[in-house]
Amino acid sequence: MAYADLIINSTSQTLDRMFLYAVPQDLTVAVGDLVQVPFGGGNRHLQGFVMGIRDNLDPDVPADKVKPIQRVLASGLFDVRGLALVDFLRREYLCTHLDALRLLIPRGELTGVGHKYRKILVPGQPIPPDHPKAKAYGVICDFVRESLAEGGVIKAEAVRAGFSASSLQTMIKHGFLQVEDRVEDRYSTVRYAEDGARVLNQEQAAGFRAIVEGDPGTYLMHGITGSGKTEVFLHLVSHMLKQGHDSVILVPEIALTPQMIERVKSRFGRDITVYHSRLSDGERYDEWMRVREGKVRIAIGARSALFLPFRDLRLVVVDEEHETSYKSETSPKYVTRDVAAFMMEQTGGKVVLASATPSMEAFDRARQGQYHLIQLTQRAGQGAMPTVVTVDMRKELRLGNRSILSSRLAAEMEKSLARGRQIILFLNRRGMSGFVSCRACGFVYRCPNCSVSLTKHQGGRLTCHHCGYSQYQKELCPSCGSSFIREFGIGTEKVEQEVRKRFPDAQVLRMDRDTTSHKEAYEEIYNTFRDGAADILIGTQMVAKGLDFHGVDLVGILAADLSMNLPDFRAYEKTFQLITQVSGRAGRGDEGGLVVLQTYQPEAYPVTMAARADYLGFFEQEMMVRQAMAYPPRGDLLAIVLSGTQEAELIKNIQFVAQLLRELSSRYANITVMGPSACLISRIKGYFRQQIIIKGQLTQDFAMACKDLVYEAVRGKDIRVSLDANPMNLV
Ligand code: ADP
Ligand code: ZN
Ligand code: ZN
Repeated sequence: MAYADLIINSTSQTLDRMFLYAVPQDLTVAVGDLVQVPFGGGNRHLQGFVMGIRDNLDPDVPADKVKPIQRVLASGLFDVRGLALVDFLRREYLCTHLDALRLLIPRGELTGVGHKYRKILVPGQPIPPDHPKAKAYGVICDFVRESLAEGGVIKAEAVRAGFSASSLQTMIKHGFLQVEDRVEDRYSTVRYAEDGARVLNQEQAAGFRAIVEGDPGTYLMHGITGSGKTEVFLHLVSHMLKQGHDSVILVPEIALTPQMIERVKSRFGRDITVYHSRLSDGERYDEWMRVREGKVRIAIGARSALFLPFRDLRLVVVDEEHETSYKSETSPKYVTRDVAAFMMEQTGGKVVLASATPSMEAFDRARQGQYHLIQLTQRAGQGAMPTVVTVDMRKELRLGNRSILSSRLAAEMEKSLARGRQIILFLNRRGMSGFVSCRACGFVYRCPNCSVSLTKHQGGRLTCHHCGYSQYQKELCPSCGSSFIREFGIGTEKVEQEVRKRFPDAQVLRMDRDTTSHKEAYEEIYNTFRDGAADILIGTQMVAKGLDFHGVDLVGILAADLSMNLPDFRAYEKTFQLITQVSGRAGRGDEGGLVVLQTYQPEAYPVTMAARADYLGFFEQEMMVRQAMAYPPRGDLLAIVLSGTQEAELIKNIQFVAQLLRELSSRYANITVMGPSACLISRIKGYFRQQIIIKGQLTQDFAMACKDLVYEAVRGKDIRVSLDANPMNLV
């Protein structure tokens, strides 16, 4: 008799353990199958994933208590490597088995989506030459036969092509035509113009060789914007392809990288998978199947593409490695580069992280020798690095200019328009978090404990979302006594209005969440600007990424400060990255470009270092802060968010949890439990949110103990738990 250990496909936290079932003689069951089982007292039919098969029962388990598996619903959804990955995800990100399994399996497989079929027409028995309609039927048959090469036609399509519905029906009735189920591909088969590989320059070639000839492991490719990182990893993919290995290229936000997809498709033809969260369940299912069947060797996609069932994956490229979208926001809250490294450790493959502004974590590891470092210091194509000019907005105010545009930026825009070149104006809207600053001196209210900005609430209270510290805002600036102290806020609409007023003859486009809410809008704006049909592009984060426009010679960064004052310990890092990325959009053409960087804190190091394009300088400064505050990568954070519909009940519970956590952590050295405090977004869809942040050297055992403690403490209560190890955003 064989037995199977199953994970039940149900999100209940209490079911997150193995359940034992017997495998009946007449069933073949293997690891990776989805099976149907009777569950609980009522023998409800539930689904289970087979995690292990064994021949014997433990001595204390009575054989007659073990229920049999009823049937196999799907097979081969994952293999033993998948099991190891599930284990890794659970330990590292404190998730359930099921959360981890769901990453590996397309949702459609669990909700009953299968292949899509088309009922196509095929020629049936021959038409007798003396049949009264032989000629007309013959034409129809020829049409059907010819269409087969293009995938066949269904009846409605034949009607649309001009044939009579009743003739078709009669032909089917008499067997002259037959209807056949044919699997239809839902993946896109758009073709792009072919694009040949470029010959690598010396730096690129050295990097390429280092990776190809080097040991398995993670390679950090740090190269200035436009240094040809993409070209290098496309060469690597091509190399893998020649060796018969599979590759995955991960990009931050798929909808925002049409250029990258275009480039990969043009290089490798149509046989690549494009995989991301905007696909329908059916499309995802098809792509997943194509990969499992070994029909494609290359995938490009968002972080979820990492989990496609390739058989021989040896290369994972993480482009723009520093982007926050590589940290999952739903459980398992995994870090893509770390999961990729784990997977490549298993296969002896390589992870290549590419960025002009690597994350603190990645560069730190490269420094410590955990990653191999590859550096590209020159622009590969045409164009020089742009010149960056910093404008002190406090001085503008003193000179009486209250506009969003400094006089320098307005003057440069004038010149640029006169030359017939293009301009990008960037407003960092991610920063709209309600911090309070002084426009006269740049002072910002910050938490004395956590070195993050305080957030304004109704009634004027300023609160720290890490530790709960709060104070009232003063009438006048505590630093300079000016009355220009208030909540910071400008929007892209306001910028657009002002720009249109100032430059009435210019063609202005705006690109932000509002103007790109429908799928094609982004590409429309993008194409209009690329084709030179507009002069000025105003945008948020979206314009910072990957755009390669040769007409742009001026980039204006309207308020570099916004992101600097996020209530988040990564605020400076994100600011430095953004300024560098946005600046990289200027001067892609043959003449160098200019960046005008407007700020109220011109002496802050993310601003000065970005203006000098000094990544290393920034890294050193920032690392001192991380060290002093024990923030990642010099310490760990564990965010525990509880949410519930009854605020008082929630607070009572989280206070209790905090007390238990303090008792637990007192047995460990160097661990601080902060909070509870209201989350930055203190209420979502009727649920109040409170958080506790644990900081210090957190071992996996300690984190697991915290997880168990929290779930135990709220068991049976109407409270939701969310755990996040080293969160990217504390919201
Ligand atoms: P990155 O990914 O570092 O931003 P890209 O690979 O996109 O850089 O290269 C920037 C520009 O330089 C692109 O237009 C690309 O076609 C061009 N380029 C890259 N490598 C080479 C090369 N070896 N020879 C000529 N042009 C190159
Ligand atoms: Zn002031
Ligand atoms: Zn604080």
